[in-house]
Amino acid sequence: MTDECLFCRIAEGTLPCAKVYETDRLLAFLDINPAFPGHTLIIPKRHVETLFTLDEPIGDELLLTMRCVGAAVMEATGAAGLNVIQNNGRAAWQQVDHVHWHLIPRFPDDGLAPWKQEAYGSPDAMRIMAEAIRNNIRA
Ligand code: 5GP
Ligand code: ZN
Repeated sequence: MTDECLFCRIAEGTLPCAKVYETDRLLAFLDINPAFPGHTLIIPKRHVETLFTLDEPIGDELLLTMRCVGAAVMEATGAAGLNVIQNNGRAAWQQVDHVHWHLIPRFPDDGLAPWKQEAYGSPDAMRIMAEAIRNNIRA
């Protein structure tokens, strides 16, 4: 827990939140500035900045929580779909440096813009990129 971290303060209860679910290690609450009402965040209660420094074995619990909270968000909002989004680093839109997963209810033609996509310049460029990633896997 760090004093300056908003989400640590929410996890310890010194900053209020609209809580929707919790387990021993995880907390789910509404995002204060939602993309759409019902937009929910899931955080580990223990402070960790990003996916890459996460050291707790929360994988199974997180997936179950995403499924049960995500389904409840869809039911409660009447959403037709749900995005699960997780940002790491400023370049990737992370504003709060306590790892979190966004559950965003989606509706037909709701106007939320997808990222722009562009094909690789050549099959070689795609092959080289896959090779570079494979060479850096540290499983
Ligand atoms: P990020 O951009 O870091 O992935 O997302 C951080 C999210 O936290 C934003 O969507 C923002 O609206 C939300 N947020 C920031 N401060 C607070 C807060 O004090 N309470 C709640 N409930 N959400 C917050
Ligand atoms: Zn924190």
